[in-house]
Amino acid sequence: NSIVLPELANDTIEPHLNLRPKNFDEYPGQERVCENLKVYTQAAKLRGKMLDHCLFHGPPGLGKTTLAGIVAETMGYQIKVTSGPVIERAADLMGILASIESKTILFIDEIHRLPSNVEEILYSAMEDMRLDILIGQGPTARTVKFDLPPFCIIGATTKAGAISAPLRDRFGIQEHLDFYSPESLTKILMRSAKIMNAQLENEAAFLLSTRCRGTPRIANQLLKRILDFALVSNKISIDCDVVNLALKRLGVDSEGLCIMDRDFLKIMKDRYQGGPVGLDAIAAALNEEKSTLEDVYEPYLVYRGFVLRTARGRMLSDLGKNHLDN
Ligand code: ADP
Repeated sequence: NSIVLPELANDTIEPHLNLRPKNFDEYPGQERVCENLKVYTQAAKLRGKMLDHCLFHGPPGLGKTTLAGIVAETMGYQIKVTSGPVIERAADLMGILASIESKTILFIDEIHRLPSNVEEILYSAMEDMRLDILIGQGPTARTVKFDLPPFCIIGATTKAGAISAPLRDRFGIQEHLDFYSPESLTKILMRSAKIMNAQLENEAAFLLSTRCRGTPRIANQLLKRILDFALVSNKISIDCDVVNLALKRLGVDSEGLCIMDRDFLKIMKDRYQGGPVGLDAIAAALNEEKSTLEDVYEPYLVYRGFVLRTARGRMLSDLGKNHLDN
């Protein structure tokens, strides 16, 4: 598989740190999505046809890229990875599509950031497996049709709503990934600890699973830092004490919120009396990009009920207020 994500490139350099699951059995959580994908992949194999194009949406770090890799592995396809912001011009996408081989998954991360003229090329590529290339200008212009080998696009996005309807409609399979339960995250953490040769106690894994914003990527990141604390303080096995100590030092609170999450809530409370307030105002006060707040921080705060999204703007809930007061 020729996956060229930076994260995976690192994994190859340090194979013992390759935490990315390779198949459905190694991928706890997202049960409904996985069960559906198992059916779709099996059916495609039985028919001897390419898998339909897939769109995975949900907050960052929940396993969309990983899932694309698992689908490729299950189907026996190769996978090529690119992302919306990288494909700036129509010619870039044509180049990628023209070089695609049969039985390939083209994984497009952040697909909502494809420019609209590039998107239009994808339409016919996805629907008719064909590239329509316009040559020349004015009355002499003509379209050359270029057949593409069977391929499958897997798009990933943190913002399903930002994808245009015609593009969205061309994905036969659409799945939403949600935040993970502590039980699933405990399994993920125990597996990661094993790969990293660390002794993680069950209770400690569970404690950490409740403090990582329901997100495997954050769970793994925190685990790595906790291992640092354990190593430096000569602890062989990771217990709840080490987890608590490390999380405190990392600024992660009892609900798993990080410093930025709490600042988000504090701005709402102190400057806007709990709202309603627009995300632009919060972003300006935090000196952060609005899109980062919207994609990375806000979804979990809304999921946990600390922030409410209303037609008039964001409001701090009673739960959010109480959390800040404690
Ligand atoms: P996304 O593409 O949604 O941002 P990724 O697929 O890159 O997320 O996943 C982030 C990290 O979390 C990966 O390194 C992967 O190891 C881990 N991960 C995600 N989902 C799972 C899961 N269900 N089981 C185990 N590890 C997971």
